[in-house]
Amino acid sequence: MSKATQTELRLARRMARLGTETAFEVLVRARALEAKGKNIVHLEIGEPDFDTPANIIAAGAEAMRGGWTHYGPSAGLPALREAIAEDAGRRRGVKIDPSEVVVVPGGKPIIFFSMLAFIEEEDEVIYPDPGFPIYESMIHFLGARAVPIRLREEMDFRLDVKELASLINDRTKLIILNSPHNPTGGVLSERDVREIARVIGDRDLMVLSDEIYSRLIFEGSHFSIMAVDGFKERTILLDGFSKTYAMTGWRMGYGVMRADLAAHVARLMTNSNSCTASFTQVAGIEAVRGDQSSVDNMLAEFRRRRDLMVAGLNKISGFSCRVPHGAFYVFPNITRTGWTSKKLADALLEEAGVACLAGTAFGGFGEGYLRFSVANSVENINLALERIAAWAGKNL
Ligand code: PLP
Repeated sequence: MSKATQTELRLARRMARLGTETAFEVLVRARALEAKGKNIVHLEIGEPDFDTPANIIAAGAEAMRGGWTHYGPSAGLPALREAIAEDAGRRRGVKIDPSEVVVVPGGKPIIFFSMLAFIEEEDEVIYPDPGFPIYESMIHFLGARAVPIRLREEMDFRLDVKELASLINDRTKLIILNSPHNPTGGVLSERDVREIARVIGDRDLMVLSDEIYSRLIFEGSHFSIMAVDGFKERTILLDGFSKTYAMTGWRMGYGVMRADLAAHVARLMTNSNSCTASFTQVAGIEAVRGDQSSVDNMLAEFRRRRDLMVAGLNKISGFSCRVPHGAFYVFPNITRTGWTSKKLADALLEEAGVACLAGTAFGGFGEGYLRFSVANSVENINLALERIAAWAGKNL
């Protein structure tokens, strides 16, 4: 062993502030139990269990054979940026120019790049709690102040606008919105969004609007803050292909933002990834412009599973679960079990063979909740419900 590998790593201090996504860790633990012969129902990971639609796969394979195997422009292929501008704009009722679109490898890089581009140490960032853990991780990584806004069950996990108003001050540089919401399935109404815009007013701050689940809404419709007068210039819209088209492993997402900012984000792309894979982007054009029936079918199936899971959980002693209106998660309240979220999630994994996530994997205000993904078959959801009910019968 060389001397360098024997000594302790002298990592930059910021690495101690970087968080993670518990879903990947629970998946590893569940796989280790499976390797020992235990049967596990996987309700921990946030990805559609459907195959990527055949027309998109065909377009990707054809693109590889057709030579789309080289570098492309850092901001994305012009034809894909054009298709996204048209599609994302039409769905939100805003006019988007292709120069305002940056294609990146997944939705996550838009979180990373927009924070890198804007956040300084003295800044404050308001983000939902419970919420996607990468927001808080990135805020801490950059040494800024993380200001959580609590999402409350009694409000169906929509945020309380008065509370938001009380958190905004002159140091607030960025407000993160996420609707439909991971992990609660909460959906902001048009009225909520307009109220949020009203309390932000003409303050000089940016909004990162994470709309990655915008096509997965069961009741109501999607409304983006980008569509509110005066907000297009101050919004960074995050969306992508992972959830809508079951393309998590292709790694492709995008941001929509004012063109001068898009050029800076493209520069961050040049410095990191160079570009998103070219054949993936060609498949993305087919995803956006091609037949959309697979999205509708997936939504109908997620609705069926959501209903099954919510009804099943509500029959188990100590669990109470609201009906989420979007995404593919359910977020039951488990306080009446008397167990903490983490202990209960661990016990369900190790003793009942059901993998799920503790609400605290999404922030401190997630205590008292669990997150189950319904991206699994009806058969497996039924099996998970049976196992949880049997476990609860013995232990609660
Ligand atoms: N934003 C939210 C709220 C998510 O739940 C996820 C994925 O789980 C992402 C962004 C990132 O998506 P991607 O896999 O495209 O990077």
